[in-house]
Amino acid sequence: MKHAMEPAITGSLSIFERSCGYCGARFRVLATQVPDHPHREEYACPECGKCYVAEASAEPEVQLLRPRSDGKNDRYQETMF
Ligand SMILES: [Zn+2]
Repeated sequence: MKHAMEPAITGSLSIFERSCGYCGARFRVLATQVPDHPHREEYACPECGKCYVAEASAEPEVQLLRPRSDGKNDRYQETMF
């Protein structure tokens, strides 16, 4: 028997706050998580661009809550060695 309509994949919105370990900015991350579709997405610190990874079905939305506290203007750079 064929189902006429597949149920829509409903994700649960996971909202959490974190501080950037590099520049000290604080931001809120909104990630949609779909239980049966484990997936990892990268998001970047809005101030310095340092990358973090969250479990989400799509690229998380990031909202800046507090500007960086290190007093610099540089961008985070991954060390290649
Ligand atoms: Zn940062």
